[in-house]
Amino acid sequence: MRPGRNPEPLGKTPLLDLTYEQLNGLLASWGEPAYRADQIWGWLYRSLAADFEEMTNLPRELRERLAEATLLRTMEPLGERVSADGFTRKVLFALRDDQTIESVLMHYEQRHTTCISTQVGCPFGCVFCATGQSGFVRNLTPGEIVEQVLYFARQLKDQGRRTNRPITNVVFMGMGEPLANYEATWQAVETLTHHEGFNLGARRITISTVGLVTGIRRLAEEGTQIGLAISLHAATDELRDELVPINRRYPLTHLMAACRHYVERTRRRISFEYALIHGINDSPEQARQLARLLDGLLCHVNLIPLNPVPESLYQPSPQGRILAFQAELNRWKVSNTLRVERGADIQAGCGQLRCQRMPTG
Ligand code: SF4
Repeated sequence: MRPGRNPEPLGKTPLLDLTYEQLNGLLASWGEPAYRADQIWGWLYRSLAADFEEMTNLPRELRERLAEATLLRTMEPLGERVSADGFTRKVLFALRDDQTIESVLMHYEQRHTTCISTQVGCPFGCVFCATGQSGFVRNLTPGEIVEQVLYFARQLKDQGRRTNRPITNVVFMGMGEPLANYEATWQAVETLTHHEGFNLGARRITISTVGLVTGIRRLAEEGTQIGLAISLHAATDELRDELVPINRRYPLTHLMAACRHYVERTRRRISFEYALIHGINDSPEQARQLARLLDGLLCHVNLIPLNPVPESLYQPSPQGRILAFQAELNRWKVSNTLRVERGADIQAGCGQLRCQRMPTG
């Protein structure tokens, strides 16, 4: 892969930014018959075409016009790193304005999960998160969000793996806060779940939020079965104000009320992510506070040993404290899993993504 500026011109319409209806409208304005939109949509999201020349059932003039007026790809991979166990792959992409984002592909036995970004940087500044420390640059467009998924899907397809459904799960847990870029995130969800296209089941998508209450309530009204994950990390306002500064705007009583509303509307279990930080949030008493906070809510706690970020003062809890914390949750019958972190050795774990140039090769 070559480092350098993405060469795509800025004046063209990125095709992946269009909804199905907008694609229809564009083609109608060119005097094309209605079925052309179905054909192109199928090439984009079912056949995973990477070039207009692959769209062999379109007339040559239409392919040429598409190539002149629109873009199929808007990001270039600058570098890729694979974890020592080979199960996690992180890619750094250059966008058309030369900004960079990172995305991750994780292989499990039956699943291929992509972890995708929704913003360049992030405005929320959680103290243990690499992305938060690098500040906010801009929101991604719907097409830039979807294209991260298509990139990995094409890669898997080229490798001949699960060709009819290469990506089985998508988690919005990369750089940025998805609910702070709500419209683009939601359009990306609609594109990925479109039954004539990528056709991913809504239950296979998880949106992770730091706790934007208005966004959670809005998501609850969308009437889908999207999974919701909350980056919680503390069970009292005093500590959460420190670790997750947005808690000062949306304190725990408001956040928990929004979570209960989400469960009532969707009947889906919420995941709470809890990164265990040595000496900060990992005592048995804090496990009891967490159990009290979640009492009666349909939920599951994912305990994550903190992924260390080089410049951070926060360190992962030792194994003994992690197990004692988990034992206390078990005693209070809080459903939980101690997550095996993937890709920490290539800084692809939760909270480790950031816009840094990776060594290529
Ligand atoms: S944890 Fe999420 S919301 Fe917090 S700074 Fe990192 S990317 Fe932003």
